[in-house]
Amino acid sequence: MDCIFCKIANGEIPSNKVYEDEKILAFHDIAPQTPVHVVIIPKAHIACADEIDDTNCDVVAHIFSKIPLIAKELNLDGYRIINNCKENGGQTVMHLHFHLLGGKKLGEKIA
Ligand code: AMP
Ligand code: ZN
Repeated sequence: MDCIFCKIANGEIPSNKVYEDEKILAFHDIAPQTPVHVVIIPKAHIACADEIDDTNCDVVAHIFSKIPLIAKELNLDGYRIINNCKENGGQTVMHLHFHLLGGKKLGEKIA
């Protein structure tokens, strides 16, 4: 499958990793929107949040269970987690990912 985040997950495309285990990978976004901007992905391909179901949701819980550790590693004192889902939700890479944003006092809302 021609998926850029699958290629990052399997090492075909390099990334600046901040956390990795057998199920997930976190790496710095190539175009950071905030001083710290990390993308967290499941290694297994899930296209978007709309594709999460009972059979694959464990990895989503796993991602959230590691976010405090990743945030600590990055010295984040408060942060925002964002998921863009499908084209109308602003998703450009069709492999489920969560943006972890921080490193400054963020504005209140995004709309
Ligand atoms: P989204 O718009 O929610 O689909 O987010 C995709 C994100 O992936 C964007 O913030 C891009 O800057 C980021 N991105 C795309 N290609 C790469 C890459 N090769 N390495 C790191 N981040 C990337
Ligand atoms: Zn993929």
